[in-house]
Amino acid sequence: MPTTEQQVVQQLRQLVAVPSVSSPDPRWDTSNRGVIDKLAGFTDSLGFEVQLLPLHPGPAGKANLIARLGPERPTDGCAGGLVLSGHTDTVPFDEGRWQSDPLQLVERDGGLFGLGSTDMKGFFPVALAAVAEIDPADLRAPLYLLATADEESTMRGARELPIDALQGASAAIIGEPTDLQPVRLHKGIMMQGVRLRGRSGHSSDPSLGRNVIDVVPELLALFDCYRKELARSYHCELLAVPSPTINFGCLHGGDSPNRICGELEFSFDVRMVPGLAHTEIERVLNQRLGELAEAQGIEIEMYRLVEPVPAFEQAAESPAVRAAEMVAGQPAGAVNFATEAPFLQRLGLDTIVMGPGCIDVAHQPDEYMPLNQLRPGIDMLKQLIVHHCL
Ligand SMILES: [Zn+2]
Repeated sequence: MPTTEQQVVQQLRQLVAVPSVSSPDPRWDTSNRGVIDKLAGFTDSLGFEVQLLPLHPGPAGKANLIARLGPERPTDGCAGGLVLSGHTDTVPFDEGRWQSDPLQLVERDGGLFGLGSTDMKGFFPVALAAVAEIDPADLRAPLYLLATADEESTMRGARELPIDALQGASAAIIGEPTDLQPVRLHKGIMMQGVRLRGRSGHSSDPSLGRNVIDVVPELLALFDCYRKELARSYHCELLAVPSPTINFGCLHGGDSPNRICGELEFSFDVRMVPGLAHTEIERVLNQRLGELAEAQGIEIEMYRLVEPVPAFEQAAESPAVRAAEMVAGQPAGAVNFATEAPFLQRLGLDTIVMGPGCIDVAHQPDEYMPLNQLRPGIDMLKQLIVHHCL
């Protein structure tokens, strides 16, 4: 194996060895500081100026890392610098189902096996190998490495980035595993709960209470009607499922056949296509649920189960998309998973998603990074650094 790839493997081994699970379940949730500190060391030795941004206090000490190489601002009429971005956390894992220790990187069958190898600790050493192949003195615009916390749970690392955190950059590449294909679009996701409150009472006399199970047919009809409206109004050909979807996830209520059911919880998710904002969905549903509550003489309250992630679309003709397509030799497409892209776009960055590894092996036992994507990944990122920063 050539020295550059050996270095990638060696750095990835160190990153995988440090657990950095993020999860809404506090039994799993751990700090990402170990990974951040490793990356701080790697970037520092390449001459980056390194900055750690602790997240607002939470149960575990977590931080984003922003490292900059080159000038603070673009010089000599250069259009603007580049951000190479990845998340430092992984999902929880089921050790017993792995063929080897998930925290110990193992090379076999043409792959590097380990937790987060492909999603997405592997991106960092590949990106840094690309940086190492350019002369920092040639940079005419800033080159950033951004490493975020909590992408797999709340995305609060990316959400909390200050508006001026990546000054002088005009484009960002998020290195989520796409088999090195450029991606300029994905759906957004929101997860909501709905609480119906009536009044419980003895089942022998319905007038003693207000049974919310009786309202379920109207509730489902309301959602089904809205779902059909959305499917008629929104369509995005680039997506495998081209319309917005609403999935009824769970329904819980009541406790006993001889009691009037006084309370019920219903939850659903919506996958939004670009152009459909979660605030619009909340506005429409709140209005209609309010009308239903009034008509049925019950209370209905809708709430967020998690903070929504907006849909993402980078215009097909934007310079960052064009550059990525040129380097990858194929047109930009769409993916089925959500990323931090809308939050980087919010900072004024033309954003694309493109990185080594395959999403199909992520979030499951025996996740691996294919060895044969390391060199192409380094080459593509190097070309993009040259395009944006030199
Ligand atoms: Zn990921």
